[in-house]
Amino acid sequence: MDADSEFEFELAVCRWAERSWDADGPILVGRQVGTRRRRFDTVIVECDPEGLRQRALFGPERIDDDLLDVVPHAPAEWAWYRDALPDPGYPWRYVRETIHRADDRGILDVRTRGNRIQIRRRWRYPDWVARIVAIENKPDLDASAADRLAAQLEFDVALALADEVWVATERAGERVPRALLEDFPVEAGVLVVDDTVETLWQPRTLTDRRPGIRILDRGGDRSAARFEYADSDWTERRREVISERVYERGWRSYLDSLRPDCRHFECVPVERGVGPHCDAYDRTPTPSQCRGACPEFTPEPPTWRTRDWPIAGGPGRGVRDVLDAQRRRERPGLEE
Ligand code: SF4
Repeated sequence: MDADSEFEFELAVCRWAERSWDADGPILVGRQVGTRRRRFDTVIVECDPEGLRQRALFGPERIDDDLLDVVPHAPAEWAWYRDALPDPGYPWRYVRETIHRADDRGILDVRTRGNRIQIRRRWRYPDWVARIVAIENKPDLDASAADRLAAQLEFDVALALADEVWVATERAGERVPRALLEDFPVEAGVLVVDDTVETLWQPRTLTDRRPGIRILDRGGDRSAARFEYADSDWTERRREVISERVYERGWRSYLDSLRPDCRHFECVPVERGVGPHCDAYDRTPTPSQCRGACPEFTPEPPTWRTRDWPIAGGPGRGVRDVLDAQRRRERPGLEE
């Protein structure tokens, strides 16, 4: 595999995961998803098949952090929202805003009786996530990158937000320099991704280590390490938020950070799908290069744009539609 950029490598890992990840049920793959403090390069959500189908009833958009305070708790019968929902820990007026947003999206029944807002669930919010796997992509694993990565992996393993943590790297010449891997925590798995994918080290499941530990300071020669326990409710909520983001965005949302409206941008066939390509540079465009400031950026001319321009026409829009269709295919139950 030609991975001359981290971005290209990341897309290749996502593509491989979607095609070949070994799981008992369906999977969803996302990229650049995580918490405010930590973003994972690639995230695999292993799903319960029936739960995933049930999840589709709520539509392609994510159930965000605020909605998760409401939608899963909505009762089967009409009830005043304050009786039905757990205390959110912040003012109820924000909850009311969220209720109206859920109503607008058609994922919650809402009515007013005697000045009181009542809610009722439309469908039961399913327990659709079985496991979460996080992969850190590092194609060029030199000594300093390995050192930085070791610290990140220690943090991920201790926090146990994902059930498994992996590093994906490339072969350097004939083999991966094992000396570079020695500082990685033994709980993290190691994948070598080339034309084939080889498991160099199997990870350990982190779920049984909860509550997770948040490393605040790794310590050093002169200071002691500092850490705190991660609240299990916090962990569970972050896992739901991450899974919902993966559901909404998948990994093909890379278009949002590129310029598919440039006339040099094209999507070329790759194994089981399409991948971005720039015909001006004859390579995979990267987010840092593929933007309006790119010297070769040329907006697609209006004549390329077909019916409904500028709202829905144009090749850039066409590429987006193709990728959206692929994303929806991975989510059974979503209407076409
Ligand atoms: S020419 Fe520049 S902006 Fe256009 S597709 Fe290539 S990298 Fe992107």
